[in-house]
Amino acid sequence: MYGPGDVRVEEREKPALAAPTDAILRVVASCICGSDLWPYRGLDTTAQPTPMGHEYVGVVEQVGADVRNVKVGEFVIGSFFASDNTCAICASGYQTHCVQRQPAAATGAQSEYLRVPLADGTLVATPGMPDADLIPSLLAASDVLGTGWFAAVAAEVGPGKTVAVAGDGAVGLLGVLAARQLGAERIIAMSRHADRQRLAREFGATDIVTERGEAGVNRIKELTDGLGAHSTIEAVGTQEAMMQAIRATRPGGHVGYVGVSHDVSLPGLELFFSGVHLHGGPAPVRRFLPELIDLIWTRAIDPGKVFDLTLPLDSAAEGYRAMDERRAIKVLLQP
Ligand SMILES: [Zn+2]
Repeated sequence: MYGPGDVRVEEREKPALAAPTDAILRVVASCICGSDLWPYRGLDTTAQPTPMGHEYVGVVEQVGADVRNVKVGEFVIGSFFASDNTCAICASGYQTHCVQRQPAAATGAQSEYLRVPLADGTLVATPGMPDADLIPSLLAASDVLGTGWFAAVAAEVGPGKTVAVAGDGAVGLLGVLAARQLGAERIIAMSRHADRQRLAREFGATDIVTERGEAGVNRIKELTDGLGAHSTIEAVGTQEAMMQAIRATRPGGHVGYVGVSHDVSLPGLELFFSGVHLHGGPAPVRRFLPELIDLIWTRAIDPGKVFDLTLPLDSAAEGYRAMDERRAIKVLLQP
């Protein structure tokens, strides 16, 4: 990305091992993230041409001398942050806050090859080479599924609970899927787009709310005997969405927030009197990868449905345009 609205596909030097704990992957599939749209829209600054992409599945082509768990030829998935998976923070399930945390795809995952640091802790191999139709779902596990899943876990979703989901991007939609898997009784998806509403229902939404802001909060309260949801997933990152999530949640309930926060400031007094738990941040996708890979491998879930446009890597610029204009929910790129 050269700057807002300016994505180019160029020949670059092939990534090489930089540390003995690195692995080099041949990228099989990558994709464009909602968070890639922040710099694309000029809301985050891009100082120089930046290699893009942090979601990937691929085949291990080369490993450093200290790599033990990952082998050449294996099909692997990793998250957007590299982690050692051995420190005390990783052991507690918060690999995105690993003491050795670093970007997992600094060389850019929207690419033919990728260097992944801390390969032993970061990458998880599938049981074998996946069938082609499983690849989109495995790719979803790299970020959007893992993030939606963490949001549901952070919101303490469980049997008997009513869950509200703010955000109808891929993460919000997969938050719906996660809520269903985790046994939620009722799932209220907030969306005003027919195609996204349809997918939300396929993933398990029982109710759709099209109103936003205060009207959206009021509608959720109407649906929950005036109390609000037990659990709310916030998958947008704006002030409006965060306040909507807090206000739509009943006292004692939980908000799981995973939308990357942009200029959100929380009013202390309102938070004080809300009695709502807040938990979230960058999802420790690595914690959930083994379980998510298993659910996908056994075809219990099909999160790959969020990809509604597949393009060759060469057409990445068109993919960004399609997501920016909301013509596509999520774009898969094939190197
Ligand atoms: Zn760690």
